[in-house]
Amino acid sequence: MKILLASPRGFCAGVNMAIQTVEEALKVVGRPLYVYHEIVHNRHVVENFEAEGVTFVDSIDEVPANATVIFSAHGVSPAVRQAAKDRGCTMIDATCPLVTKVHMEAVRYARQGYKILLVGHAGHDEVVGTVGEVPDAITIVESPEDVERLPFTTDDKLAYLTQTTLSMDDANRVISAIRAKYPQVKDPPSEDICYATTNRQDAVRALAKGVDLVLVVGSKNSSNSVRLTEISETDGTPAHLIDDKSELDPAWFVGVNSVLVTAGASAPEHLVQELIDELQASYEGVIEASDAVDEGMHFNLPVSLRILRDQVA
Ligand code: SF4
Repeated sequence: MKILLASPRGFCAGVNMAIQTVEEALKVVGRPLYVYHEIVHNRHVVENFEAEGVTFVDSIDEVPANATVIFSAHGVSPAVRQAAKDRGCTMIDATCPLVTKVHMEAVRYARQGYKILLVGHAGHDEVVGTVGEVPDAITIVESPEDVERLPFTTDDKLAYLTQTTLSMDDANRVISAIRAKYPQVKDPPSEDICYATTNRQDAVRALAKGVDLVLVVGSKNSSNSVRLTEISETDGTPAHLIDDKSELDPAWFVGVNSVLVTAGASAPEHLVQELIDELQASYEGVIEASDAVDEGMHFNLPVSLRILRDQVA
């Protein structure tokens, strides 16, 4: 069985920065250490940090007064920051700068009097955080059908923004519907779907049609990982999203001569390597050369953490 490796795959600059933030905070402030929401949407990453004594919470009420809390890569609303401040918490913000960019765009458009259509998945941590910046100005739209139901007129001052990890094809369908109904709508100042999402989707789109099966390493709550499986399936190739090699099902490989392996932006590379080892050992897999793509992106650790580190040093 031929094994193709998609590239780029796995960790993006935002995930790298967020994980390094927790690692560094463990050294600088130690335990107890709280993280608001999963630091990145990956079960293995979260379980490893829990084993090191990190506590993940879904509400600031769960963080004791004056404790240190890290905000996850997906960003938080001002209300969450205020709640943490009210409890006297030391805050470390590991929000990906590309998510922060969308927050700033929302605030700027709202100040200019625009109503904002946020193309994204209601309930996703990132969308909840962005909406929380200017809740009265934002309406979430997930589909062209949602656009049909919007109450605005062609005289309204409208702008749209998108979640960073959407499928480009799905987002374009919704955006086309918005533009058709509201020709006056203003675009984001720059593309909101991030480079990592775009590159990983392009890599799968380029290779999925030529294989019998696609395996995506990632967790079920990882938006960009789910999108990779959807892209493959839309192109007619069966795809499975797995947290690790233990979820492989021999039935998937009946009649399969080629498999494409990729990983979502929050999936550690060692899980990909373990999967490849298993495909070689149990399914006579042979790796076809694949060029590694260097995306050339790097984000610095949060300023708040660097200040804390300097104070301790
Ligand atoms: S997927 Fe994109 S927006 Fe999300 S953390 Fe990575 S670089 Fe940032």
